[in-house]
Amino acid sequence: MKLISIFLMFLACNTTPDLPVEKGATNIEMPATEMLADTIVPAQYDAQGKLIKVVKSKEDWKKQLSADAYRVLREEGTERAFTGKLWDNHEKGVYVCAGCGLPLFSSETKFESGTGWPSFYQPISKECIAGNEDSSYGMLREEVECARCGGHQGHVFDDGPKPTGLRYCINSVSLRFVKQ
Ligand SMILES: [Zn+2]
Repeated sequence: MKLISIFLMFLACNTTPDLPVEKGATNIEMPATEMLADTIVPAQYDAQGKLIKVVKSKEDWKKQLSADAYRVLREEGTERAFTGKLWDNHEKGVYVCAGCGLPLFSSETKFESGTGWPSFYQPISKECIAGNEDSSYGMLREEVECARCGGHQGHVFDDGPKPTGLRYCINSVSLRFVKQ
């Protein structure tokens, strides 16, 4: 009998404790930061068809992002006009979130806004963008976020060109360009 109890104690001590899992939080495997450069990380969905989010601590974002990118993406900063790398980019390709690689905008919908920020008249898909997109009435500044990692991208205004009449005014530092 004593032997059995010792055996049971041994088993109990060797049980790996369950890692705490935040309720409702989902996450995806991200490539290492150095792999993320110029990489598209497509949307992934859970069994219910919901976009799987990227959830990271402040510290992890600080490790991954440059100081400028952190200030804009995670603290809703704005880069100075005409200072970013992408406002005057005319190459064909895809603009992905600098935080998580989710494709957000295409060169097909980029236009010359004269603002000094990369400007698009629509996102690749509505579900890749978080925030209220109905800027047709009233509100002039609607925040644009990456729907997967919550990274701040910029704002959407209702003074854009046809066919949407929208102007997604995005920070270069919030995006990475993947040439086609
Ligand atoms: Zn993102």
